[in-house]
Amino acid sequence: MKLPSAILNSFFPLFCINCEKIISEGWICESCYQSVRKDINFTDPHPSIQLLIVKFHYEGAIRRAIEIWKYYPSPKFGKLFLKSEIQKDWIDASLKGESYDCIVPIPPHRSHVRERGFDPIEQLSKFISNLTQIPIQKALKRTGIQKPQTQLNDYQRYQNVIGIFQSKQVVKKKIIVVDDVMTTGSTILEASETLIKNGAEKIAVMAVAAALSKLRWFKNG
Ligand SMILES: [Zn+2]
Repeated sequence: MKLPSAILNSFFPLFCINCEKIISEGWICESCYQSVRKDINFTDPHPSIQLLIVKFHYEGAIRRAIEIWKYYPSPKFGKLFLKSEIQKDWIDASLKGESYDCIVPIPPHRSHVRERGFDPIEQLSKFISNLTQIPIQKALKRTGIQKPQTQLNDYQRYQNVIGIFQSKQVVKKKIIVVDDVMTTGSTILEASETLIKNGAEKIAVMAVAAALSKLRWFKNG
């Protein structure tokens, strides 16, 4: 990924990650932020998922920010981005007054953590847990080897994720499943249904961004 050298050298002093204008705080200038599309509404997302909470469309400046956070990779930038964009009020409003027992992060591919040295979804989960005081439970783990999703079409992606997770018993738990970016949604759906098979009573999904044009709910028909 090509990044402006000013950004690579230092995030402080700060540059807008979209247009490289100098800014006094945050990660994006005001005029670029105006073009960011927020808060995607899902009504009745899927029989297995009661609430689907997504802050941003995965495009433009948001995509750039997430790519720096995940693939550059930069936990420091991630902290700045999350602090600016994920607030307690937003989470509380999104959860609609319902209480939840735990946050379950989507587990990373081990090879990704090895390559990047950190796990962005874990960072995001801890961030949400600190704001809400809802504890993290690492109930899911990946089984076996999964082919990289990027080479596959939507249906192959769905086929490719069946059985990739194992879950601890989560009987009667109300769970927030946390992911960074949803593309087709097949991974998050498989994770949610694995938790339900192991006793989960209710699933909300929280993600920073979603590629709305790619989101498919295969099991919904
Ligand atoms: Zn800008």
